[in-house]
Amino acid sequence: MVAKYVYDFTEGNRNLKDLLGGKGANLAEMTNLGLPVPPGFTITSDACRHYLAEGVVPDGLEQEVAEHLDALESQMGRTLGQADDPLLVSVRSGAKFSMPGMMETVLNIGLNDESVHGLAKQAGGNDRFAWDSYRRLIQMFGKTVLGIDGDRFEEALEALKDRRQDTDLDANELQQLVETFKGIVREETGKDFPADPREQMRLAVMAVFDSWNAPRAILYRRQERIPADLGTAVNIVAMVFGNVGNDSGTGVAFTRDPGTGRQGLYGDYLQNAQGEDVVAGIRNTIPLEELERIDKHSYDELLTIMETLENHYKDLCDIEFTIERGKLWMLQTRVGKRTAAAAFCIATQLVDQGLITLDEAVTRVTGDQLAQLMFPRFDAAAEKKKIAKGMNASPGAAVGKAVFSSARAVELAERGEDVILVRRETNPDDLAGMIAARGILTSRGGKTSHAAVVARGMGKTCVCGAEELEVSTAERTFTAPGGVVVSEGDVISIDGTSGQVFLGEVPVVDSAVVEYFEGAAPDDDLVRAVDRIMRHADAARRLGVRANADTPDDAARARRFGAQGIGLCRTEHMFLGERRQLVEDLVLATDDAERQAALDALEPLQKADFTQIFEAMGGDPVTIRLIDPPLHEFLPDIVELSVKAATEEATEKDRKLLSAVKRLHEQNPMLGLRGVRLGLVIPGLFAMQVRAIAQAAKEVPGATPEIMIPLVAAVQELEAVRDEAAGILAEAGVEALIGTMIEVPRAALTAGQIAEAAEFFSFGTNDLTQMAWGFSRDDVEASFFSNYLDLGIFGVSPFESLDREGVGRLIEIAVREGRAARPGLHLGICGEHGGDPDSVHFCHEVGLDYVSCSPFRIPVARLEAGRAALAETDSDTR
Ligand code: PEP
Ligand code: MG
Repeated sequence: MVAKYVYDFTEGNRNLKDLLGGKGANLAEMTNLGLPVPPGFTITSDACRHYLAEGVVPDGLEQEVAEHLDALESQMGRTLGQADDPLLVSVRSGAKFSMPGMMETVLNIGLNDESVHGLAKQAGGNDRFAWDSYRRLIQMFGKTVLGIDGDRFEEALEALKDRRQDTDLDANELQQLVETFKGIVREETGKDFPADPREQMRLAVMAVFDSWNAPRAILYRRQERIPADLGTAVNIVAMVFGNVGNDSGTGVAFTRDPGTGRQGLYGDYLQNAQGEDVVAGIRNTIPLEELERIDKHSYDELLTIMETLENHYKDLCDIEFTIERGKLWMLQTRVGKRTAAAAFCIATQLVDQGLITLDEAVTRVTGDQLAQLMFPRFDAAAEKKKIAKGMNASPGAAVGKAVFSSARAVELAERGEDVILVRRETNPDDLAGMIAARGILTSRGGKTSHAAVVARGMGKTCVCGAEELEVSTAERTFTAPGGVVVSEGDVISIDGTSGQVFLGEVPVVDSAVVEYFEGAAPDDDLVRAVDRIMRHADAARRLGVRANADTPDDAARARRFGAQGIGLCRTEHMFLGERRQLVEDLVLATDDAERQAALDALEPLQKADFTQIFEAMGGDPVTIRLIDPPLHEFLPDIVELSVKAATEEATEKDRKLLSAVKRLHEQNPMLGLRGVRLGLVIPGLFAMQVRAIAQAAKEVPGATPEIMIPLVAAVQELEAVRDEAAGILAEAGVEALIGTMIEVPRAALTAGQIAEAAEFFSFGTNDLTQMAWGFSRDDVEASFFSNYLDLGIFGVSPFESLDREGVGRLIEIAVREGRAARPGLHLGICGEHGGDPDSVHFCHEVGLDYVSCSPFRIPVARLEAGRAALAETDSDTR
């Protein structure tokens, strides 16, 4: 079959976005609805992809375009650029996903020194209009097709206007401007402006193709996670003119307020102007309501069309239109972008209007939108002085005095001051300071760095890896580009949603949605809409949602936010602070008695930890993970200790400690003595934890502990720990499931064997991603990930959103082989991905029983789990 690269507007429809792009598909849809759309046709994104890959347009394309142009000419009764009565066309980009303003458009194609007179004649002798259109063509064509700096044309126009409005320029002046513009083209390219209309069109089409790879388009795609290989379609549309006179004009409109969702008419109109003038802001637009006064007939028709579109698309639409001498033309429509708040309100309004079902309403909002509504944010209207940008590690807006140590953060916070903890990078010892601070700023580390993971867990604003900042802990300052020095006590504001850092205080607005999740009754439209959608999502979802929580406060919050248990209670932090000494004693023990003494001292403390968490969870399951990280993390810094051990005051203990620290030092701690390995190497450590769990469970009626072993790679490791743990539980008369994390690739690949010894699996996708890719989770995001994103190796960090092809495959294998070995094996995920929307969908698809995520992500996971379930029955989810 011969490939088809060109579709007339009458041939397409809105479901062909992949092929015709959003603009082309919707122009076709409006054409078929009988709305007044100027005739035209669309060159497919297939043709663009071919051109971008091969450097030439596909065979047959030029012929097909010529045939469609012939048809358009006969329909219009004019030929392109015909001297006495020209057809003019616009050449417009339009990709599958809207990329506003990122790619090119050229209007008025077909004008040259002859046809400009024909155009004037068409417009009833309106010379001014014709020359204005001609100068616009050279200007747009020069800039976008010939690559001339747009300022050259702007400057010439400004010089001629001499502080007047563009509408004040008369025909002679515009004719003079055309000559100036042609001169600029000659100077810059060494050639004349191409007079041949078909050549103009051919070059413009290729310029639109090329604009797919313009730097700003690449950047936009990265931000919006739009795949780099889609290409754009190109629309060729018969020109209609909004710049013929005051009975003409152009405008943009929304069928309801995209900021709040309120119903009504929202838009701007500009008299005697052409498309791009409205957005370019060259003159002040007027509110659309005023069109009623200027041209009642067009206004009424526009309202009717807007209603038709809303009823047809069953959603908010945005439109572009032009009025040419009293005749209304629709130039574009699409389901319009909206704020997160508007998305929730509009979805429920449409249900009330009977346009969509509540199932559909749930699919119309996203977890990302919900997350945006949950964080306090900076007042958009406030003035800000940006001094740096890092990674948006944990969303929200935080303001406070910069402090450079955890102790100082605690000290000032106790005095009631708001602080931002600024560190090169954080470590587990900074936890107290992180809890005390309003927000955390680091100059090193990626989105799964310690600071980022912990901050997200606490729902605390965090910007990490702001590499432009020079942090000096010793001097208690940081230096930002441009020599701005911020000292301890200076106020800064950090935006964890965008990664920006500001000097001084930026005003913050609180979230009513969080108050609702905390238990407040819904008392405004937005919160009522969120409530309705959340209830429906909960009813629809198959996935359970649990929390990653390891303090009673987090556990209690998680429960209020709807967690159905704890999927990951990390026990590491329970060994810090005052207990560090006991861990040191444990590591330094030279015989069984010393070791046992340290363990005996730790056990009641652990028991108290678990008791509190069981109490907070009121009988819901609590998966407690036995201690995981490398032991050296609990020991003093090797450099500091070496210095101390070399001094006169050094004690025998200091020297012993140094030799233990040296003994435990590892080149690759993340691949070293941690997790189950630690439990097997230090006798009694895991047993102490299991005993503490059993004793705590006995004390809290209804407690449902589950014991989870980290970093298992071989069933033999698990068997050894399981046997010991099962014995302790039996002795205590406590029942608890014993399961394992699947976070080492070997565990996923031998899941059939491991399932024989495990009553549940929980996928630790942080480590699984680290080990599947061979990426250090603490380093790579801040180092070379931006190069990888630029190169298109992946569109989003695999630490942020689960890599379905690689890590996902390991999970699929483990699910399949694990369940084959043990039908009914309970399966969950507790890596950071458990709160990422796309990853939640993957977990649903692959058949996990639950996702576990940080308390603040729980509502997001609930919503996405509902959306995933509903998407199965409705293939039209966005
Ligand atoms: C994981 O690796 O995904 C996990 C949950 O464990 P941690 O992040 O504590 O290593
Ligand atoms: Mg792990």
